[in-house]
Amino acid sequence: MIFIPGAAFALALMQTNPAPLAQINSTRSDSLLLLILGVGSLLLSLLVQGLKRWVHTDRESDVQDHGTARSDYPAVELMSMRIDEHAEKPRMAIARPLLSVDVEDYFQTEAFSAVAPREEWDNYPLRVVDNTKRLLDIFDTHNAKATFFVMGWIADRVPQLVREIAVRGHELACHSYWHRTIYSITPEVFRQDTRDAVRAIEDAAGVRVSGYRAPTWSITRKSLWAINVLAEEGFEYDSSVYPVHHDLYGIPGASAAPYVWKTGHNDMIEIPPATFSIGNMTLPAAGGGYLRIFPLGYSRMAIDQLSRRTHLPVVYLHPWEIDPGQPRLNGPWKSRLRQYWGLESFELKLTRLLASYQFIPFRQWRTDVAAAGPEVSFTMPGVMVA
Ligand SMILES: [Zn+2]
Repeated sequence: MIFIPGAAFALALMQTNPAPLAQINSTRSDSLLLLILGVGSLLLSLLVQGLKRWVHTDRESDVQDHGTARSDYPAVELMSMRIDEHAEKPRMAIARPLLSVDVEDYFQTEAFSAVAPREEWDNYPLRVVDNTKRLLDIFDTHNAKATFFVMGWIADRVPQLVREIAVRGHELACHSYWHRTIYSITPEVFRQDTRDAVRAIEDAAGVRVSGYRAPTWSITRKSLWAINVLAEEGFEYDSSVYPVHHDLYGIPGASAAPYVWKTGHNDMIEIPPATFSIGNMTLPAAGGGYLRIFPLGYSRMAIDQLSRRTHLPVVYLHPWEIDPGQPRLNGPWKSRLRQYWGLESFELKLTRLLASYQFIPFRQWRTDVAAAGPEVSFTMPGVMVA
């Protein structure tokens, strides 16, 4: 079962996009390339299936379920998430993929949350300032602008960094205060965490924040109530729903293109991260570990496929991903694999990607869509929040 999508992926790579293959390394023999692609695709298959069969952790179901219906947060229906083929598509998205950075440090990832508990974070030397400034320089070199989803904890400790991100022309958005998975906390705790983060970011930079990205993509079926809370708190868009299978996150079957959440308050635009489709399978791509671990050609394929389908390619990364010298934390092998694999080559991949596409921040895309008039605005059916 695992090998079939792996082989299909390798075949798709070979057949549909020869140019990136040639760019990877034209001097390698075909057999070596096939081997690399086969192994890479197998790993991809393993990753997207969450390794459930071998190392099933079921983190989401282990925690207390705060996502079921509550009197103040009615149950959320997942419906009509597929794009209406007759609906107008946001054509402005075609040529300009979005770039996003989740601003957190190496000891704050979910992979090491058990090894580096939050009460000990202040004991770790910060590397996020140097790494983020390095990213800013790289982005400047390629004339790329991004949306930086910043943790409130970071904004409170290094407000000058948050200010610099804004001054250098990038958008600021929210990546929670404490980087807790949303399905592990209550709506009340989530609301307070979000308010604390927004206060820290806005105080640091003096700009308004209107976008949200959940830690570890943790808006899932169990925590869809978070969309309502975000709408009530005045957010205009969210980028937290990964439409894939994964052991920690994802809503399989959700739209890979942007859509609108109808809430009891303002409508919320959902802007999912980039994915790659083979048949009826939707695979994660072009961000974080998927950008680090797999050949760059795979991310290019995903971006190009989304563009062809008039969907919206959203690339994401973290400051610690361009830092091969970060201290190695002593976590389980799966955590080490997720965080440390591919660090050495990540910056090179990133610069190649930035040289290939003209990246813009989320706010730029929303402005472009609005300016283009109603014929290219969202008319795709969203998810009704009852
Ligand atoms: Zn994060």
